[in-house]
Amino acid sequence: MLRKVWQPLTSWFEQNKREMEWRSNPLPYYVWVSEIMLQQTRVETVRPYFHRFINELPDIHALAVCGEERLLKLWEGLGYYNRVRNMQKAARIVMEEYGGELPSDPALLRKLPGIGSYTAGAIASIACHIPAPAVDGNVLRVLSRLTGSLACIDDAKVKVHFEELIQELLDEEDAPDPGIFNQALMELGALVCLPGGTARCAQCPLREWCAALRLGELDSIPVRKPKKPRRIEKRTILAVRDASCTVIRKRPDSGLLAGLWELPSLEGDLTDVEALEEARRIGIRPVRILPLPEAKHIFSHVEWHMKGYLVLAEELEGLAEGYLAIEPERTRREYSIPAAYARYTEYLNIRPGIQTEPGGEF
Ligand code: SF4
Repeated sequence: MLRKVWQPLTSWFEQNKREMEWRSNPLPYYVWVSEIMLQQTRVETVRPYFHRFINELPDIHALAVCGEERLLKLWEGLGYYNRVRNMQKAARIVMEEYGGELPSDPALLRKLPGIGSYTAGAIASIACHIPAPAVDGNVLRVLSRLTGSLACIDDAKVKVHFEELIQELLDEEDAPDPGIFNQALMELGALVCLPGGTARCAQCPLREWCAALRLGELDSIPVRKPKKPRRIEKRTILAVRDASCTVIRKRPDSGLLAGLWELPSLEGDLTDVEALEEARRIGIRPVRILPLPEAKHIFSHVEWHMKGYLVLAEELEGLAEGYLAIEPERTRREYSIPAAYARYTEYLNIRPGIQTEPGGEF
């Protein structure tokens, strides 16, 4: 099947591909950074992050030696912060073991923290023209529909099966350029073979061969496992300020949003009297408390349903251990506060440098 479609697919790609900075200059480091950023995040959201990241950390050495607070600040708003922590661990290994150059062998790439078979295949094929498959969710959808596969794409064996199909094609003598072929499949999934009932089959260069279109099975292919409902957690957020400062604290080193900074918050749905008690326990001397709007933030397995209070305080000093009183401007520059708190940081004049839509943090 893939033998029949690769030429129309790659011709379509050459005419319709979106311009991307990491595409026009596909250095291995750029492809790596962009692929990690693009996990769970759209291209348009990634662009400004990519520019800022590359400007500040132009190569693997710069990434390896960057301080943690700065690194998290550069990632602020993208979510899934373990991605960038793993990138730094991998960068340090690359400095030690590969002289600062990413290996081009997908098997070696897969041994680095945070690099799975998809990312390894993307770096190897796009940056180094190595014949390796790069199968992500978009590609799984396209290939399932094209072949009419009723196998569940959440099953790891199905991904391996499609990787083998692509590998067979890329190993042939007259095979397409692997980087172009992989990107063409991804781009078709991102622009044309869209999820649910939104596929644009009339514009698709593969419609002549597509089993799902022929069988009228677009809604049922690809097959997915039913999703477990997310756990709901209620939280109360305190946005505290005096004339010049606000209060933040560091989250624990493990679990959700590990090691990031946050506004003081508690589990549960606190009344204003309970919120004031908590503020006093932290060492704040409140002079006024005002309710703030409710907010919701969606993580992969959990939803936070939040209520908030603006706590106006006398001078912020003598806070409990672990809490910092700090000027909003410094917080904006130096401390990474996740987008989950965006509804409340706006009352403190703290906004991350680049805003994204809420969601997608881990
Ligand atoms: S014809 Fe439609 S369903 Fe088939 S690959 Fe193209 S866009 Fe996807």
